[in-house]
Amino acid sequence: MAYELPPLPYDYNALEPYIDEATMRVHHDGHHGAYVKNVNAALEGTQFANLPIEEVLRRINEVPENIRTAVRNNGGGHANHSMFWRIMKPHGGGAPTGALADAINATFGSFEQFKEQLNDAGNKRFGSGWAWLVMDQSGKLQVISTANQDNPLMDGLYPIMGIDVWEHAYYLKYQNRRGEYLNAWWNVANWDEIARRYEEARGVR
Ligand code: MN
Repeated sequence: MAYELPPLPYDYNALEPYIDEATMRVHHDGHHGAYVKNVNAALEGTQFANLPIEEVLRRINEVPENIRTAVRNNGGGHANHSMFWRIMKPHGGGAPTGALADAINATFGSFEQFKEQLNDAGNKRFGSGWAWLVMDQSGKLQVISTANQDNPLMDGLYPIMGIDVWEHAYYLKYQNRRGEYLNAWWNVANWDEIARRYEEARGVR
């Protein structure tokens, strides 16, 4: 069954003033829509077409070579954005609580230090990509960044949260000020969903 573009879980203007409506429209309908269309076209007729996208990404090296780059870019784009819409919400922000907060404090020293590391990873990613909080196979948290639409699952890491630092994610409102976008992003963080993904990571690794 072909993948479908998941509807946004809130209105296009719901993340204002941090992320503007025009950006959300072109980002969701245009960019994510194209990733879905393109990954479906690439996988059509292959044994991977019926698998959850996360499994396809974990097994990216088994995908036939002639479609692997298309699946990497567009399948990655589909998975990344499906997560991204859900880890944001209107009136979000604040700080994580519970086991996730404990793990962040134990690993990075404090929530503020964690935010700094993730922002730094996003700011230093040259060109297009993502900044991530991931869990490795030993259960340890790490901040990393990936190029393009690469997803941590391709490297055996579990993505807990990722911030899109492609220019299409911020350029209409922030132009070249990626750092300003990254600082603003934390005001829409959906810690319930991020904590749910953390628990899922603990369960699957
Ligand atoms: Mn994007």
